[in-house]
Amino acid sequence: MTAYLKDSFGRQIRDLRVSLTDRCNFRCFYCLPHGEPPAAPKSSMLSYEEIECVSEIFVSLGIEKIRLTGGEPMLRRDIEIITRKLAALKPRLKDLALTTNGYFLPERAESLKEAGLDRVTISLDSLKRDVFKRMTGVDVLERVLEGIAAAKRARLTPIKINAVIVRGHNEDEVADFAAFARETGVAMRFIEFMPLDSGHDWSREMVVAGREILRRINERFPLVPISTERGSDTSTRYSFADGAQGEIGIIAPVTEAFCGACSRIRLTADGQIRTCLFSTVEHPLRDCLRSGATRKEIIEFIESAVMKKEPRHYINEPQFVTPSRTMSFIGG
Ligand code: SAM
Ligand code: SF4
Repeated sequence: MTAYLKDSFGRQIRDLRVSLTDRCNFRCFYCLPHGEPPAAPKSSMLSYEEIECVSEIFVSLGIEKIRLTGGEPMLRRDIEIITRKLAALKPRLKDLALTTNGYFLPERAESLKEAGLDRVTISLDSLKRDVFKRMTGVDVLERVLEGIAAAKRARLTPIKINAVIVRGHNEDEVADFAAFARETGVAMRFIEFMPLDSGHDWSREMVVAGREILRRINERFPLVPISTERGSDTSTRYSFADGAQGEIGIIAPVTEAFCGACSRIRLTADGQIRTCLFSTVEHPLRDCLRSGATRKEIIEFIESAVMKKEPRHYINEPQFVTPSRTMSFIGG
């Protein structure tokens, strides 16, 4: 029987998100609108050998899913090497995925598949060129669509597409995205805007609630729930009532928090363990690793960090404090 990492509330931790870099070639206004702060020294970032070492330990502790993220993880030139090293952890590691803005996929989807990546999640906030440019800061919609096609050709499937829905920007495109899912067979996931933008411009009025997204889709394409059980999944999933291909997922951390079933922890590019997207404290695994700690000491460090996992985020409560690090640093 697998021994899982458990937090102090009895939640099993099975899902690790590894941020490969806090750099990004996009300027999504809900994430990194004013660009990156000055680069930290390269030596402060985990090397691929360190990522391999800690991932192996995490997997020995029951982590079943690893998602590579960032920043834009495909900016790391050694991403294929990292992928190959982590793929070697299968079959104990059951799922190796990547979240990307899709920009580099046209040329590199095939090499990632070949290195052992199972699947990709690609961000796509609009199907309209001008809105895409306004939301991401770059005029590259066509290229991202090519990236999605390349991922499909490389069988990095099932492909998930993430769209952050923000009032006044793209809420009118929700049903068009559902049509896109039906045409291409992807799982289209709609994410509520969270207060994790570096510009600190988030406001409650900008959040389009999951319920509203669902209503807008249902008006054009009736949906049926895939399961009433969410498990530790972040999304509630739906299929099309008429049996069309594709899937819809609603991720509503602001209006329908799912913290009670959370199975995730995160590792930042500079080697800090974060036990929640909204954590205000971090656990310096990198320093532990570089201090010459034994495997047993590293395991104790990880277990102790996991025991401090927060019960929930406090977005809707008066004591909520916006984390000092934004989504591009934390690893979404
Ligand atoms: N650069 C890659 C990308 O955009 O897919 C990976 C990192 S990005 C931080 C991961 C996911 O977080 C993306 O799907 C992005 O849309 C989402 N995200 C970023 N900032 C967000 C925010 N403030 N609220 C909700 N989702 C956000
Ligand atoms: Fe970059 Fe992804 Fe953040 Fe957009 S959401 S700025 S692509 S890290």
